[in-house]
Amino acid sequence: MTPTASIALALVQDAADVLPKGLLGALMDAGLELHRATRSEGLAELESLLVGGAAPAAVVLAEGLEQPLAVAQQVRLVAPLVQQLFVAGPDRRGQLQRDMMLTRLLGTNWTIVDPAMTRWDDVVRAAARATRQRSNLRTALDRMNRHLASRRDSVAEDVRRLTVSDRYLASILEHAGDAIVAVDEVDRIVTWNRGAALLFGRGEAEVLERPIDMLVPEERREELLRLVHDALVGRSTTRYEIVGCRVDDSSFDAEVTVAPVRDAAEEVQAVSVIVRDVTRRKRYESSLHDANVQLKRALESLEEKTSQLVELNAKLQALATIDALTGLKNRMVFQNSVTEMIAVAARRGSPLSLLLLDIDHFKRINDVLGHLEGDKVLQQVASCLRQHTRQQDIVARFGGEEFAILLPDTSVAHAVRVAETLRRACNQSVDLASPLTVSIGVAEYGPNDADESLIKRADDALYASKRAGRDRVTIAST
Ligand code: GH3
Ligand code: MG
Ligand code: MG
Repeated sequence: MTPTASIALALVQDAADVLPKGLLGALMDAGLELHRATRSEGLAELESLLVGGAAPAAVVLAEGLEQPLAVAQQVRLVAPLVQQLFVAGPDRRGQLQRDMMLTRLLGTNWTIVDPAMTRWDDVVRAAARATRQRSNLRTALDRMNRHLASRRDSVAEDVRRLTVSDRYLASILEHAGDAIVAVDEVDRIVTWNRGAALLFGRGEAEVLERPIDMLVPEERREELLRLVHDALVGRSTTRYEIVGCRVDDSSFDAEVTVAPVRDAAEEVQAVSVIVRDVTRRKRYESSLHDANVQLKRALESLEEKTSQLVELNAKLQALATIDALTGLKNRMVFQNSVTEMIAVAARRGSPLSLLLLDIDHFKRINDVLGHLEGDKVLQQVASCLRQHTRQQDIVARFGGEEFAILLPDTSVAHAVRVAETLRRACNQSVDLASPLTVSIGVAEYGPNDADESLIKRADDALYASKRAGRDRVTIAST
């Protein structure tokens, strides 16, 4: 087997020519090298043999070495990573062992080997084991070193990142449109960005270390300080409206957000005050408010006009449908009602009758009592007709001193009775020197009737009453 690059065993001797019997053979069998140092060459040679990357992990102190204990101490001193120390030679009295104990060669395994008794194979195996142990130790050390190196790199990266984020924040702070101010625990300004300088017209040198309340008019100072003190105990205030004060004493509408600045341990270290000029927004808001007020007023007047219009419309509607003098329905409504009621009667097959009533000799009343009294008579007749007819009957002023009464669900026989009642009622209720009489024509709707023909037949019947001497009811011929 070829000797490996790592040296398993070093032999320290006083005389170069004395080799422990059997050691060389055992080493060769294990494929290991033996490096030899003579004690006489001094510490420097021992050092050059035992120190360095390929230094042996095990050392044999040869038999016959003078002062083996002193040499062991030297080995320990120059090569603390030597794992195994063999001291060759009989130690029958235990002297060597005691000495070794006394010198406290701690951390090193040491064995006293008696060349006469010892199998050098065992020594070589122990040396190889020691080499492996040390190599493991080296590997572990290397690993730890690498780990440390990578930790160092990651710490360096963290530091770099922090530096970058610091620069980031500084840049954001500097270029923010708002004024960003930081205040310490005694209300003094400690940070002042460019936005603040532009907004307040003051440079950093003018404001640092000075109280924050100098940024608002005197009467608002207490208010601002209260917000800062709230933030110092952890309470934030968002978008608080206040007034800012520029270097030239001019003021502006400001909105402030005041918040605590905490450190990694969540302790409040300072207070940030972000100030925004909202003058323009306030102006917009106020003009918007004015516009809204105007709009509301316009709306109110529009509503008023609309309700007037509705009222007017109702009046117009009344004017268009009601006869002004008597309050009865007018002729237009009567015409429409005839059409509708004929349609209903035709559909249902129900009876429908029409009365046409004319005051007798009304001209005389006007002539004798005057037109105004004539009007009163017309009103009295109207109220009498309303009083003696049903809700569903249509009572209308047909024209002049002539009235029309539409009686749904009423046959001609029944209509004649109604007409007689009305004739008598008019006769009795209108208080005149000579009693008032009326003439009435009655017509029932028939299958051949249209609006005009029904009215025409009633009218003919009315004139028949007139011709027959007035104050009577005549039934129309079919
Ligand atoms: P007859 O019995 O034939 O119906 O005679 P009359 O006098 O009643 O009929 P006439 O048609 O000759 O006269 C109707 C009068 O009614 C004429 C007109 O001045 C009057 N008159 C029409 N409308 C009104 C009104 O609104 N007020 C008043 N006071 N008179 C009116
Ligand atoms: Mg008349
Ligand atoms: Mg008439």
